[in-house]
Amino acid sequence: MAMTKDISCHQAVALVSDYLEGALSWRDRRRLEHHLEGCDACSAYLDQMREIILLCGVVTPDDLSAQAVARLVDVFEKYQRDAST
Ligand SMILES: [Zn+2]
Repeated sequence: MAMTKDISCHQAVALVSDYLEGALSWRDRRRLEHHLEGCDACSAYLDQMREIILLCGVVTPDDLSAQAVARLVDVFEKYQRDAST
């Protein structure tokens, strides 16, 4: 486990909206970027959030369709299952 050094996918997702708003400290931003480099699931999530911002100008959970949320949850559960085995 690399919990002390690396952030988890859940933490990364929680940081993404602040990241896109430029609201993160440089420390958190670096930790997130480091995570994104090694995590396809969170990179895909970031891309999706970027698209939503371009389309809507804002990011709230309400902007994600139920289907999109379900798909993301599925991706994360798969990723974390793979990571823990
Ligand atoms: Zn991740």
